[in-house]
Amino acid sequence: MWNYNIPVKIFQGEKILSEKKELLNSFGKNALLVTGRNSAKLSGVLDDLLKILKEYKIQFYIFDRVEENPSYDTVEMGAALFDEHDFDFVIAIGGGSPIDAGKAIAALGTYYKHDAYLFNESDDIYKNTLPIIAIPTTSGSGSEITPYSILTNRENKKKGIQSNRLFPTVAFLDPRYTTTLNESLTISTGLDALTHSIEGELKNNGTNPVIKSLSLKSTTMIKGNLTDIQKKLSSIKFRKDLQEASAMAGIVISHFGTTIIHSAGYPLSSFKKVKHGIANSVFFIDVLERISQTEEKRVLNAIEPFVSLQELKNFFINLDIDKYKFDLSDEEIQKWSEELVISQKRKKTPGEFDLEFYKSLYNKIRK
Ligand code: NAP
Ligand code: FE
Repeated sequence: MWNYNIPVKIFQGEKILSEKKELLNSFGKNALLVTGRNSAKLSGVLDDLLKILKEYKIQFYIFDRVEENPSYDTVEMGAALFDEHDFDFVIAIGGGSPIDAGKAIAALGTYYKHDAYLFNESDDIYKNTLPIIAIPTTSGSGSEITPYSILTNRENKKKGIQSNRLFPTVAFLDPRYTTTLNESLTISTGLDALTHSIEGELKNNGTNPVIKSLSLKSTTMIKGNLTDIQKKLSSIKFRKDLQEASAMAGIVISHFGTTIIHSAGYPLSSFKKVKHGIANSVFFIDVLERISQTEEKRVLNAIEPFVSLQELKNFFINLDIDKYKFDLSDEEIQKWSEELVISQKRKKTPGEFDLEFYKSLYNKIRK
């Protein structure tokens, strides 16, 4: 039994915003733009977008305060703008951080109380979520396609929220907007997409043929593109491949979510400022090897077109992922490992894991 549900209109192409500009005019006359400090300007989205908004006399407010791993505070600050503005829709521009924040603000801003802790208490909070238009400037999180928003609470813990109302209404994919990503951001975001593709398929295990096809295509494109990238960084074909691979991987996790690999990486991002894609990648092979001990076929299916774990491991080694080491204390390792033992994702991840295994994961990446 399987289902497929992605209620996001996806438009892809160079200059797609101006091609489809009349669509932007169909959401109302007052837009809230949510973005990071630089990405909207640097990528060229803001220039293109403001021309269109001005042409159609759509009023706009730019909230450009979103940090990496967006916090509850930031989302509440964005939501508070609704007390003074009558927004009709939200345009989220950037990587996963601004898009996740934009989604959460589109929900919390329309709720009577702008308290992000309420996300965990009531589904009512999503009832009046404004339409969200997502314009990605990284190729990694897939947030432009998913029903998730990953936020950081005041205890510095990453908390994912999920609702069908958080699916963007429209996603505009223009590969030109990702050409300003440097080599290291291109790799870390590309690896996030790779982990989505494989983690989602680990859970699917071929049952949903649409998801299997998307995972296979996405992993194939990332495998083919994410080597020797220095020469390719300004190539539109390269950027288009990664952007499409990331979107496909986003569809995969929209159906199956991620695994304990993502959960293990969260504290590295929250407490050690490690890029999200790198935080997943440092544990990737070890967790897959562990799952392989009991479910080898499942792992071999999920990593296709890689034919063996060794081939996938070599791919990560070529990207120097094995070189990442971090200052971790005994207390941090103990605490984070205990949290993984009770994590919801653990129950949904195939394979057998215990406290000692999680501790060994963190010990391996210790300086
Ligand atoms: P990000 O955190 O949005 O951005 C990382 C950095 O890249 C920022 O410094 C950003 O600048 C910069 N940047 C973005 N676009 C750029 C461009 N075109 N040129 C140059 N620099 C650019 O990165 P991300 O990896 O896309 O997103 C990670 C977040 O997404 C994490 O919080 C993660 O938990 C979340 N996530 C969400 C989902 C989901 O389904 N919702 C899935 C996976 C991950 P600015 O600061 O100026 O923006
Ligand atoms: Fe991710």
